Amino acid sequence: MTQLTAWPPRTRADCLALDQADPLAALRRRFALPPRTIYLDGNSLGALPRDTPAHLAAVVREQWGRGLIRSWPAAGWIDAPRRVGDKIGRLIGARRGEVVVCDSVSVNLYKLLAAALRLRPRRRTILCEAGDFPTDRYIAEGLVDRLGDGYRLRCVAPTRLAAALDRDTAVLLLSHVNYRSGAMHDLAGLTAAAHRSGTLVLWDLSHSAGIVPLRLAAAEVDFAVGCGYKFLNGGPGAPAFAYVARHLQPRLVQPLHGWFGHARPFAFTADYRPAAGIDRLLVGTAPILGLAALESAIDLLLQVPIRQLREKSLRLSTLLIRRIQGELQHYGLSIVTPSHQARRGSQVSLRHRRAWPICQALIAAGVITDFRAPDVLRFGLAPAYLRYVDAWDAITRLRRIMRTEAWRDRQYARRSRVT
Ligand SMILES: *Cc1c(COP(=O)(O)O)cnc(C)c1O
Repeated sequence: MTQLTAWPPRTRADCLALDQADPLAALRRRFALPPRTIYLDGNSLGALPRDTPAHLAAVVREQWGRGLIRSWPAAGWIDAPRRVGDKIGRLIGARRGEVVVCDSVSVNLYKLLAAALRLRPRRRTILCEAGDFPTDRYIAEGLVDRLGDGYRLRCVAPTRLAAALDRDTAVLLLSHVNYRSGAMHDLAGLTAAAHRSGTLVLWDLSHSAGIVPLRLAAAEVDFAVGCGYKFLNGGPGAPAFAYVARHLQPRLVQPLHGWFGHARPFAFTADYRPAAGIDRLLVGTAPILGLAALESAIDLLLQVPIRQLREKSLRLSTLLIRRIQGELQHYGLSIVTPSHQARRGSQVSLRHRRAWPICQALIAAGVITDFRAPDVLRFGLAPAYLRYVDAWDAITRLRRIMRTEAWRDRQYARRSRVT
């Protein structure tokens, strides 16, 4: 890591000095953030880039309003899933033509899992991690249930994954960074281990794309999916992305045969013939407005090296972990996230029996964090727009809440529908 002033910071003034010297300070100014708010939820919904509203307004007014149907070719709408996919490909170390933007993570998981099973017809097991993001598991369960014929989903503890790979494992389905704990797997190592047993891998990069340097092609990853609205800042419900290694594309058969995945959508032929490359993952008409918001956010991210974001992210998480260890552990808060830097993504998760009301009290104090059932408080760290002083102040406010037991106030007890 590059040498910085006063590291590790011991005072708030040290943090202000770090922010002054931060090479990413200019990037933060490109985001529209609400005043007096410390936003530690960029891993759930990324912040709004300043350029996005004007870009969206122009797409709506000019391309939709004036161009109307002509904008499909003239404004590049028709190429948007591939174009934005290739831009995301640069963030995750994919080759051109290996990434496409479409649908949600859940739907892309369904398509890719089904395709992976077809590529390993003699095998019946999908291996996954117990405690991984629920939608990944629900989708896999739904698929094996629908297929019948001995297909099964096997979930094991994260440390047992490599040992659980066997000759019946068709596909290893795994989040690179666990949404709850923030623990990060060795992507290249597990991919190689899977391949040694003839198993395909499907990585969910929702919590690492755009924040951890990734080299999917170099690691020979087979499949991946990821989320557009977390660290990629594409906005609420932004379309997701899907990656398929180039050599697997010609043989890839996915179950949702829609007209946009057809070799010639506008030939309107009666028979389905899949497009040649990654386009065969497309199903229906692309959400152009969602793609436009995502593209302007990706264009912004592409202006800085991911390595720089990763370095700052690790400094932020180290700062949080040190202060929590030093000042908060006697309040019953324990750190769930691995202390080893190479093993963590871009968040610090704490466990506490009363995590819910503590989280609500923090939000009331201007620190937006989130709660993950049953007892985890997550501090998501988006180094593109989070300052060192924000991390410092968040802990100071948490300490005050713990010391005064402000979280016991009845207003913080009620659970809402979205957490
Ligand atoms: C956020 C997230 C998703 C989101 O799935 P959608 O279907 O796009 O809502 C899926 N998997 C993981 C691991 C996530 O973190």
